Amino acid sequence: MTERETEGCTVNFTIRNPSPALQFRSNPQRRASTRRIIVHHYHHETATPQDVHRWHLNNGWIGIGYHFMVDMDGTIWRGRGELTVGAHAGGHNNDSIGIACQGRYDDNTRNMPDAQFNAMVWLIQHLRGTHGNLTLQRHRDVGSTACPGRHFPWTELQGLRFREQASTPNAPTPEVGHRVRITTQNLPLNVRAGAGTNHAVIGSVARLSEHTVVELRNGWYRLQQLFGGRQGWISRDFTQRVTVTTNSFRVRITTRVLPLNVRSGAGTGYTVLATVPRNSEQTIVETRSGWGRLQNTFNGRQGWVSLEHTTRI
Ligand SMILES: [Zn+2]
Repeated sequence: MTERETEGCTVNFTIRNPSPALQFRSNPQRRASTRRIIVHHYHHETATPQDVHRWHLNNGWIGIGYHFMVDMDGTIWRGRGELTVGAHAGGHNNDSIGIACQGRYDDNTRNMPDAQFNAMVWLIQHLRGTHGNLTLQRHRDVGSTACPGRHFPWTELQGLRFREQASTPNAPTPEVGHRVRITTQNLPLNVRAGAGTNHAVIGSVARLSEHTVVELRNGWYRLQQLFGGRQGWISRDFTQRVTVTTNSFRVRITTRVLPLNVRSGAGTGYTVLATVPRNSEQTIVETRSGWGRLQNTFNGRQGWVSLEHTTRI
């Protein structure tokens, strides 16, 4: 997806990968077919994908059972691989994609926020675009549960129409102060004079470069740095949060068949320097956004692996 392709849409969403990456005990099996989407709620208003992942690990599962999670602020997270067998609706996991909403839509009469509702509509349309005309069901339609709750906007959701979003000017946001990395596929990302594609392009930031966010408005980040003395804005859709830790830990490589690529930086856009064998044990000395830097160097260069293909030991 490029910025140009999203221009003209009034509602833009993107699917984000939890960071640091969720660590599964083993790789989920590939699903034989995809015929349905089954929707759930967390029964919790503030849980993160990492929290749900931990709950599901505590169930003795290999990791989070849902394929996607949608926060109350409209953020969409990727959970278990989209093409793998989930663990979200007993007896119905072999042909379904599970989407769970943050929130308590059973005993809480709070309406689903517009941003979350619109993110659900977008995600369902996106998945139908990929997998064909999937049947939409609630967990309660296939199992003895109240999930996703009697206050879940089921009738409205089946209409698959976006709500008009109320504006929330100057809402405080925890994203201020975050470091983000530019995740465009090939080109640099346009920097604009305001929060939207209708504002003039005043510069660009390089792919994979990192920046500090000082304001979030309508899905756009204002950057700390100035561009020709002017405030610069970038679309949040082409960024990923950069998180850094410095505690070292051991991992096992959990690729299913092949060795794991070692790259010169924390992302698939970096050059492959070497590989590490499947099932080998490695020491990670730094993590950034779901990638880990190996203690070993490769011809004197730092080597990074995707932590998605590792498990902590
Ligand atoms: Zn459920």
